[in-house]
Amino acid sequence: LYNMVQDLKGNIRVYCRIRPAFNSEAKNVIDFTGEDGSVVVSDPLKPHKDGRKVFQFNRVFGPIATQDEVFKDTQPLIRSVMDGYNVCIFAYGQTGSGKTHTMCGPSGGSRKELGINYLALNDLFLLSNRRKDITNKLEIRSCTGDDGLSVPQATMHPVKSTADVLHLMKLGEVNRAVSSTAINDQSSRSHSILTVHIHGKDVSGSALRSCLHLVDLAGSERVDKSEVTGDALKEAQYINKSLSCLGDVITALAQKSSYIPYRNSKLTLLLQTSLGGNAKTLMFAHVSPEREYLGETISTLKFAQRVSTI
Ligand code: ADP
Ligand code: MG
Repeated sequence: LYNMVQDLKGNIRVYCRIRPAFNSEAKNVIDFTGEDGSVVVSDPLKPHKDGRKVFQFNRVFGPIATQDEVFKDTQPLIRSVMDGYNVCIFAYGQTGSGKTHTMCGPSGGSRKELGINYLALNDLFLLSNRRKDITNKLEIRSCTGDDGLSVPQATMHPVKSTADVLHLMKLGEVNRAVSSTAINDQSSRSHSILTVHIHGKDVSGSALRSCLHLVDLAGSERVDKSEVTGDALKEAQYINKSLSCLGDVITALAQKSSYIPYRNSKLTLLLQTSLGGNAKTLMFAHVSPEREYLGETISTLKFAQRVSTI
């Protein structure tokens, strides 16, 4: 049905999203062209060639791109989960760069700015209801982990409507370990994964099973910068480890290595079926426009560039 996304199978698409500057007077270090997907980072303190770096992605969303625009671009990919494909969308970037904004919407939950989580689920329910006549046994379930894998305390809940899912997401948000850091006191020091399992039948009556992972990763910034100590530091190092495992997996995939180290972290194990093979995967690389985050912005864009070669 959604043939236009067929060719994306097995490749990871990478979109870059640039959040608006918090202070409109701040010097913006990022230039971009949405159409051809290029992002240019220039350091105002190094006006010569060394201070200018160019990156290329499948698409770029600038500071004024709306949630709807972003969703519209991911909709065909999300819908293909109803045709039996495994789909994974994950948001990567330093704390404060807009990952949660894209995936969940702004905290406080303004109705106008709902994130991909909500819009995707809403769309799948819509599609599921529309297809009821031909596939009367369609069911969407959501949980905080993947079934078949031992995610401690992960629970699976049958859901009937977007409202059910919203309720579950709120619950997940409460359970999510959040601790303050020097960078952003709303910082989430954990990964948040919403998995939707689809069980249905295709037109010929054979069973379809697929899953959609929507992942809001923990901040990718280096630990030393956050000036965290004690338990929070341990947690941050643990999280950085799972992100560096993700990097290793992506490097191995990019190099077409015969051994892919999925088993080195829970995160990569969980995303295993989404990162190689036949899954359709989309990564949002989130960056902040301010000069003070230049270093993190460059490392996010480098990581994203590496991902786009898979
Ligand atoms: P992260 O999850 O990466 O730590 P957040 O999503 O919490 O970052 O974003 C940090 C702040 O910036 C929040 O207050 C958020 O509402 C705001 N923000 C992020 N992206 C956008 C955007 N595209 N438009 C408007 N505000 C945004
Ligand atoms: Mg967040």
